[in-house]
Amino acid sequence: MNKQVVLYKKLSPLLMARLHEQTDVTLIDNLNADGLAQLRDALPRAHGLLGASLKLDAQLLDLAPNLQAIASVSVGVDNYDIDYLTERRILLSNTPDVLTETTADTGFALILASARRVVELANMVRAGEWKRNVGPAQFGTDVHGKTLGIIGMGRIGEALAQRGHFGFGMPVIYHSHSPKPAVEQRFNAQYRSLPELLQQADFVCLTLPLTAETEGLIGKQQFALMRPQTIFINISRGKVVDEAALVEALRSGQIRAAGLDVFEREPLNADSPLMQMDNVVATPHIGSATHETREAMATCAVDNLLQALAGERPANLVNSGAWKA
Ligand code: NAP
Repeated sequence: MNKQVVLYKKLSPLLMARLHEQTDVTLIDNLNADGLAQLRDALPRAHGLLGASLKLDAQLLDLAPNLQAIASVSVGVDNYDIDYLTERRILLSNTPDVLTETTADTGFALILASARRVVELANMVRAGEWKRNVGPAQFGTDVHGKTLGIIGMGRIGEALAQRGHFGFGMPVIYHSHSPKPAVEQRFNAQYRSLPELLQQADFVCLTLPLTAETEGLIGKQQFALMRPQTIFINISRGKVVDEAALVEALRSGQIRAAGLDVFEREPLNADSPLMQMDNVVATPHIGSATHETREAMATCAVDNLLQALAGERPANLVNSGAWKA
C-alpha cells in the first residue's frame, strides 16, 4: 500500500508528479478555515506531511497516529514542537543551504533600501511630489565602509558578511553562541558580546533562529544601547524582537531606521505603527521568495520526505533523536 502524504503547500507539476509516483497525495492548497478542516480530516491517515508557515502543535498532530515524517519547506523550525516530535519518533526535516544566498540578498536589499530611503523616495516620485532636486531632508546615509553587525553567525549570517566585506568594504563584527575562526579569517570579522555589538554596529542585522532562548532577545534595553545612526535589520523571525520596543526606538530617534522582513504577527496588522513610519522598510516575509529558491526548497523537502518514508535517514533531519536505524 502506498504511503499517504498530506501537502499543505502547492508544489510544481514536476514535484507533484514525483510524489504521485510513490505516494498517495492529498493537497490542501489554502490554509483558510476550510483548508484547516480538510487538514484535520486528512491527518488520521497521514504518514507524511509537507508544507510551511503552519504551527503544527501537539493538539493537531495527536490527530495523526500514523505520522512518520514532516518535511518543512523552510530552514526555521519554530513552528514545531521538537521534543514532542522526537518523543513520537516523527522525523522532522528542513531545507537549509538552498535558501542561504537568496535570504542574504533580501537582507542586503533591506540594508540598502533603508539606508538610502529607497521606498520612501520612490513613493515620493510615484506620488508626483518630485518637484525639485532633493536636499538634505531627503538624503540617506552611506552603506559602504560602515560597520556591519551580524547577530547569529550561521549560514545566512556568513552570506551577509560576505556581501558586506567583499561588496561594500564594510568592517564586520558579529555575535553568536561561539566565535567562528574561519569566518573571522575570511571576512576579517571580529567577535563581540551582544551589548558591544549593539553599541558599535551601524547596521544591526538579525540572522538567528527563533528559539526559547532568542524570543524577545532584542527589547527596550538592547535598543537603548544602539545609537541614533543605527539601522536595524531583521530577516530572522519577528518574535526575536519586542516590536513595541522597536516602534518606540524608531519614534524617539533612538535608532535611525529599520528594514524588516518578519514581524511578531504575520501578515502585519493594518493598524501597526510600523506601517506609518517613513523610516521603516517592511517586506512581507520574502527572505527566500524567488522562483528559483522556492523550487529548490520544495525539491529539497520532497527529497527529505521520500527518504524518510522509504525508511532512510533524511538528508536534512532536524531531530536526530527521533532516528533509529
Ligand atoms: P544557522 O546556520 O543555524 O545559523 C543560525 C546562527 O544563529 C547559528 O550560527 C547560531 O550560533 C546563532 N544563534 C542561535 N541562537 C543564538 C543565540 N541565542 N545567540 C547568538 N547566536 C545564536 O541558520 P540559518 O540557515 O543561517 O538561518 C537562520 C534563521 O533565519 C532561520 O532559523 C530562520 O528563522 C531565518 N530565516 C528567515 C528567512 C526569511 O524569509 N526572512 C529565510 C530563511 C531563514 P552558533 O553557531 O554559535 O550556535
